[in-house]
Amino acid sequence: MDGKSDIAALLEVLRKRIGRMEKVRVTEEEPVKRISQRLLSIKAPSPLKPDVSQLIQLLGEKSSQIVSRVHLQDVGTVQHIGSGVATLSGLPLVRTDELVTFPTGVQGLVINLNHYHLDVILLGDDAGIQGGDLVTANDERMRVPVGPKLLGRAVNPLGEPLDNLGPIEAVGSNYLEQDAPSIIDRSPVNQPLHTGLKIIDGLLPIGRGQRELILGDRQTGKTSLAVDTILNQHDSGVRCVYVAIGQKKSTTLSVIETLRKAGAMEYTIVVLSGPDDPPALRYLAPFAGCTMAEYFVDMGQDVLIVYDDLSKHADAYRELSLLLRRPPGREAYPGDIFYLHSRLLERAAKLSEAAGGGSLTALPIGEIQRGNLSSYIPTNLISISDGQIVLDADMFNLGFKPAVDIGRSVSRVGGAAQTAAMRSVAGKLRLELAQFEEVARFARFGTDLDEATQHQIERGSRLQKVLTQPVHQPLSQALQVLILFAVTEGYMDEIGLENIAAFEDNLISHFTTNHPHLVHEINRHGELTEEVRQAFTDSLEDVRNAWFERTDRA
Ligand code: ATP
Ligand code: MG
Repeated sequence: MDGKSDIAALLEVLRKRIGRMEKVRVTEEEPVKRISQRLLSIKAPSPLKPDVSQLIQLLGEKSSQIVSRVHLQDVGTVQHIGSGVATLSGLPLVRTDELVTFPTGVQGLVINLNHYHLDVILLGDDAGIQGGDLVTANDERMRVPVGPKLLGRAVNPLGEPLDNLGPIEAVGSNYLEQDAPSIIDRSPVNQPLHTGLKIIDGLLPIGRGQRELILGDRQTGKTSLAVDTILNQHDSGVRCVYVAIGQKKSTTLSVIETLRKAGAMEYTIVVLSGPDDPPALRYLAPFAGCTMAEYFVDMGQDVLIVYDDLSKHADAYRELSLLLRRPPGREAYPGDIFYLHSRLLERAAKLSEAAGGGSLTALPIGEIQRGNLSSYIPTNLISISDGQIVLDADMFNLGFKPAVDIGRSVSRVGGAAQTAAMRSVAGKLRLELAQFEEVARFARFGTDLDEATQHQIERGSRLQKVLTQPVHQPLSQALQVLILFAVTEGYMDEIGLENIAAFEDNLISHFTTNHPHLVHEINRHGELTEEVRQAFTDSLEDVRNAWFERTDRA
């Protein structure tokens, strides 16, 4: 029995005993405290029977135990609902980015505030919600779970598991929207992040804390390039987050399978939003991934995040904005699309030692049409990032994979992060490639070529061949340096173009079996010492001699 009904029962007894209660006129609506005070002051006809005074005492005690708590709740009313967005009226105290709860339990995120209404994007299914439903404000901004136990898991942008590995054991939760590190907290990019791809590590090096955009037509190997980079982090200590935004589920599944088979899931979190998820989830996915990555950055670790891809992210945001009737701008994207992506990509940074020394490297992917870099979203992304890797569909179809178009690609800050060993072979590589491209244009006219030009063309086509690489087979830095050394020093000049890959394999296995400590040494210190040079030349002589002996015999 609760306090109020206790009092009502006691009052009833009292009324019967004293017979004067009508003068006191206690009403049920009166605050309980006041009733007790008035009861205690009743001048009952004396002498009161003992049980009546006891009753009054009891009443006073009972009523003083009642704690009345006032609970005010801000509520709004659904005015319009559909396609994953809702417009509400009411909720005068709500702020942007705050969460609200619908009667079905589905949550929504406030993204627009107007004088008389507010716009909410739904974080779940809108089934069962009707116009006029009451919506309550949570007085909370959106958070996602973070922690080391997320590694190896596939989650949705709300941090809910999508694999069958049980609930997520998070150490806490962090806000989805965070401020980017300030200028004071940053330090210049000075440490390499190796992708394992010769063409990138050699010519377009990426540093920890850099934002390097991957652009390309559809089916040109964008995802493969990013996944190879994740695979190559198996012994670098870099944690990875792969964010799939609106990607086909089959594609994402095969990415997860590739990572799992290579043992890369151990240090990777996959954040997944499918094309059939509400647009709000696709819009929030990169921010969720970024928050999960920042947990490790705050602990002073290095993290790589892949956003696959931001074109689809822009599309999800355009969809939401059009549904919310925001004014469309260029290509119907809303006016704040640049702010959206810069807010996201500015969170990638290399932190100073004082700020913990962690880094967040971002590899955002963007899709372009027919190699056109000047459409709206790609130009935005190019201007926000620290360089771009452009993949060319024609080169891809000709078999140059990864199909990096060196002429249109650039890495603005990574050069400073390249190791000495790589820099010493890459300088020559760049020069020879540039010369090759120059003369190859003339060679197409069928003009007579002098010997030197002929040689440049031979060398150049071998360089091109060496820069191709099969998918999901990243190479360690030492082996990349070895191969680039071999080709730029002319050790492959007499090898037929079709045999280059086989020669590379021979070279790699010869060097790794004969000089395992040097492989380790180069990977660790990144220096091309005299000892290493000597070992390179010895191995190359051995492999080349063995190669020609075999071909001569055959
Ligand atoms: P989408 O536009 O559909 O996202 P994408 O640009 O991400 O495509 P991928 O899915 O990475 O392209 O690759 C397309 C195909 O090319 C895949 O079948 C992949 O195996 C193949 N591929 C990618 N890179 C290479 C490579 N270096 N060598 C051989 N095949 C490759
Ligand atoms: Mg892809």
